[in-house]
Amino acid sequence: MRQRARKGILAFSALMFPLTFFFLSPFVIVLSAASGIVNGSAMVFGLLLLFSIFGSRIFCGWLCPGGAWQDYISGANNRKWNSKGRNLSKYIIWAVWISFIVFLWFQNRPLKGNFLYLVDIDKHYIMIYAIVMSIIYLFTLLTGRRGMCHSLCWMAPFMVTGEKLSDLLHIPRFRLMPAPDTCVSCGKCSSVCPMGLNAAEMVKSGHMDSPECINCLECVDSCPKKAIRFGMYPKQR
Ligand code: SF4
Ligand code: SF4
Repeated sequence: MRQRARKGILAFSALMFPLTFFFLSPFVIVLSAASGIVNGSAMVFGLLLLFSIFGSRIFCGWLCPGGAWQDYISGANNRKWNSKGRNLSKYIIWAVWISFIVFLWFQNRPLKGNFLYLVDIDKHYIMIYAIVMSIIYLFTLLTGRRGMCHSLCWMAPFMVTGEKLSDLLHIPRFRLMPAPDTCVSCGKCSSVCPMGLNAAEMVKSGHMDSPECINCLECVDSCPKKAIRFGMYPKQR
């Protein structure tokens, strides 16, 4: 039931992507910064960072339209795309991109806030949307399960930063809590993980904190032994 609700929310978000794209765009924020404007996507990214201090990466697992499209495309290539090296690339891209935006903000101060800046569905917008959808489509087709989330996503580092901040300040946040003694190593949790994480190994290790976990709760709902709980917990020692 919970997973049905999650997939329904994701499907709705995927359908709305042509409209919400403005507010998740990595390009519009740059164009706005060049004019000294803090636009809608800058505000949304800031809100995602703040939300993740308590909510971890719930957005990625439950609401992200890019994630939803990747889940659909993964049907054609269900391969796991998850390793330290692959996960690292998105942080490098993000660091260069965010540094450039901060540089533009600094150059073009005083800044003004305008949530709807450059929001206009014209032929350029449709072209950029088509390019981004093609990248999502081809990249996921080549890489497999949520390959873009692992390697290219410009939003994930905001949320991972929020998670790290939360742990640093010992703030309880949404996380998984395993019960290793109950686990029978059937591997069901790993096979359903949309991020291709080895959830069974994480359960056995007694720690399920992974910056790649999108808090979708597929592993929780698939476990026949109820060996994974979830809730608001501080970082385990
Ligand atoms: S570990 Fe569990 S909650 Fe995290 S992404 Fe995988 S299935 Fe979802
Ligand atoms: S599904 Fe449950 S019992 Fe099976 S490996 Fe995962 S945690 Fe263990």
